[in-house]
Amino acid sequence: MLEPTKINASFGFQIMTVVTRFAPSPTGFLHIGGARTALFNWLYARHHGGIFHLRIEDTDRVRSTDAAIEAIIDGLKWLGLDWDGEIVYQFSRAPRHAEVAQQLLDAGKAYRCYCSVEELDEMRKAAQAAGKPMKYDGRWRDRDPKDAPAGVKPVIRIKAPLAGETIVVDGVQGEVRVANEQLDDMILLRSDGTPTYMLSVVVDDHDMNITHVIRGDDHLTNTFRQRMIYDSMGWTAPHFSHIPLIHGPDGAKLSKRHGALGVEAYRDMGYLPAALRNYLLRLGWGHGDDEIISTQQAIEWFDLGGIGRSPSRFDFAKLDNLNGHYMRQADDAELAKGVAEKLGKADDSAALALLTRAMPGLKSRAKNLKELAENAGFYVQQRPLAFADKAKAILVAPETVALMPKIIEAYAAANDWQAAALEEMARGLAESSGVKLGAVAQPLRAALTGSTQSPPIFEVMEILGKDEAMARLKEAPSA
Ligand code: GLU
Repeated sequence: MLEPTKINASFGFQIMTVVTRFAPSPTGFLHIGGARTALFNWLYARHHGGIFHLRIEDTDRVRSTDAAIEAIIDGLKWLGLDWDGEIVYQFSRAPRHAEVAQQLLDAGKAYRCYCSVEELDEMRKAAQAAGKPMKYDGRWRDRDPKDAPAGVKPVIRIKAPLAGETIVVDGVQGEVRVANEQLDDMILLRSDGTPTYMLSVVVDDHDMNITHVIRGDDHLTNTFRQRMIYDSMGWTAPHFSHIPLIHGPDGAKLSKRHGALGVEAYRDMGYLPAALRNYLLRLGWGHGDDEIISTQQAIEWFDLGGIGRSPSRFDFAKLDNLNGHYMRQADDAELAKGVAEKLGKADDSAALALLTRAMPGLKSRAKNLKELAENAGFYVQQRPLAFADKAKAILVAPETVALMPKIIEAYAAANDWQAAALEEMARGLAESSGVKLGAVAQPLRAALTGSTQSPPIFEVMEILGKDEAMARLKEAPSA
């Protein structure tokens, strides 16, 4: 059995520790909806000082892949959603699931069904013809096992309640009722002895002492089926909260174009984890009019009552705005690290130091890390620089070719390499040459950055340092 629920008896009575879990099926990457589910479960556990588990539901042996498991783990780590204890791999617990099916069988709460594929097909067709959903008719429920056809391996089915109703008080959807006659004797164990998804989820949630299940509302109907197992075993079901799915900006189901991408795609697009956390939080949870909510604040505030009942709409513009905010706030060294990684300079400490110094001038001008890396690239480019056409045109213009030797001579003699002094020198040069400041600054920008756009050029000069700046000036093309 897994880790027991921790009991906190400090107030003289027992308080159950909140235990949540994220239970992805590793059949695809960690998509944005899954990341939000993970975030809500993580926040709920952290808010209550509880436990957050990661359970990989890898029972579908054909569709589960190691690459997907890795992507889920990497995605959660990148998002900063740390789980407690070891990862639970559902497939490894199949013997335990089968054991519970056997217990239900022994207790007369489940039975062996020997229906053939043809019989089930007939039932399906009859239901279709009547315009009803397929429901197994329970023909082996009370039949004498002596009637079992020879050589047929049975499945194990649960005995669904025949009358009354099941009521689930959902943390988001409120009270939801289903007439029990709609429930069928679902399969717990297949004829090859493997457990079904419904059985595995319930047994694992029970054994892991999960107190709160927060998941997408596509699982709401499963809850009623899962309740049959809890009730038959005499187990207390966890508290359920089913969160509405994420839609595209047009209200339609979220598609790739709308942002239904893996978390790694957001990382590659240059979003910061803090921004994505804030965005995902607001995508379905609210606290008054607050839009910018730090993770610390989110842990303090998060509750089930703040989860909205209607589907939220994915909106890249909002995500970009939030990302801009977190970029401006971010620590320069941290940002420089992200940029260096994107530029393939993660192990170059000189480049890292230079980028860190450059961040204050760069970070307010970029929407995301990718843009930031593009804008910062010239700082750490190896000479000879690559020149954009417009920059090259400035450098080869006759007036620049005439002026450049003077610029080089003046700066070579400079002692003070700070932006203000460098600008002062440019003004002096412009005056003595009878040109405007731009006629000096533009060639400087072109020669030092290879481009016609950059942060303030004297700041750039200072950050590059005299040696590198002079080398770039001398190497600038003149033809
Ligand atoms: N493995 C299921 C899924 O990925 C989730 C099961 C659950 O949360 O109960 O959709």
